[in-house]
Amino acid sequence: MTTPAGFEPDDIYCVLCHAPAAGPCATCRALICADCSVLTGGAVKTVAVCTRCHGQGRGVVGWRAWAQVSWPWLVGFGVLALVAWWLATR
Ligand SMILES: [Zn+2]
Ligand SMILES: [Zn+2]
Repeated sequence: MTTPAGFEPDDIYCVLCHAPAAGPCATCRALICADCSVLTGGAVKTVAVCTRCHGQGRGVVGWRAWAQVSWPWLVGFGVLALVAWWLATR
């Protein structure tokens, strides 16, 4: 049995309903079964989070999480592009 580094499962059963687990929640790493997981994500990546995390709104991954991190960079590059365009057209 192989597990990701730093992750030691203490139970092979779903923490929510005690059915055999399908895998860890992408957010809290609790083992969950297919019935207790919610597939979330976007075009980049689809991951499974437990219904507990999903209900707390913690299952934000993919495009939305990516956009939250990268929008300042996009704004910065946008400003740079505007300055470059302004200099080039003078
Ligand atoms: Zn379950
Ligand atoms: Zn979770």
